Amino acid sequence: MRSLIVVGNWKMYGSLQTNETLVSQLIAEVPREHQHRCVLCVPFPFLGQVGKLTSGSQFVLGGQNVSDELEGAHTGEVSARMLKDLGCQYVIIGHSERRRDNFENDILVAKKIDVAVSQGLTPIVCLGESLEEREQGKTEDVVQSQLDGIITEIGTSKISSCVFAYEPIWAIGTGKNADPRTAQEVHHYIRSYLEGIDVSLANSVSIVYGGSVKASNAKDLFSMPDIDGGLVGGASLSGPEFAKIVMAVEK
Ligand code: PEP
Repeated sequence: MRSLIVVGNWKMYGSLQTNETLVSQLIAEVPREHQHRCVLCVPFPFLGQVGKLTSGSQFVLGGQNVSDELEGAHTGEVSARMLKDLGCQYVIIGHSERRRDNFENDILVAKKIDVAVSQGLTPIVCLGESLEEREQGKTEDVVQSQLDGIITEIGTSKISSCVFAYEPIWAIGTGKNADPRTAQEVHHYIRSYLEGIDVSLANSVSIVYGGSVKASNAKDLFSMPDIDGGLVGGASLSGPEFAKIVMAVEK
């Protein structure tokens, strides 16, 4: 049974003051008995604060990145154990902004998945093509090569502990989402790939869509058969808007 999940990615935004307002709006607007998972992936310095603000609520905590090392002399890095210690249940791995800005490749992404799962975190693993790759008809090749790259490095056993996020790069932060049918095609492709490994894996792994999800398009996207929720950047910074997106995840 696949879980439905909506993840907010605050990226490098927020302050002690604005976080308090945002989280209190979310807790007020999403009923406590909401059935599906709601995750807030916040900047490292705010994990402690947001962990306290969300304690006992329907919102759980996630990191936006993690080291591929367990511990050691790695200045500026944050380990999976530290994220766990601060109450994180999830961590985003391989976001296209990190692949672009920090030159993260599939091997590093795979190592991070390995370490995160070993410490009991659920990786939210980002996949997706650039505009140029889509225009060249290479979307499926790109997604397959990202999945192959991860599995070649760490095998298939840890894949069942992951959530995958299909995030076409051309849709991230642009205001231009993939239309629901286009997104569904890629989600179906990813699920078929997982089916090739193991049918029960394909039936249990959640695949969420990311790229300019808003309250106005969330329902149409999330109602697609292979879309199990969303990874939301910009729109997760507004309490009323993100609350509507969270509530749109209902099959
Ligand atoms: C993201 O940060 O993963 C994302 C999808 O951003 P946005 O919703 O702003 O496009």
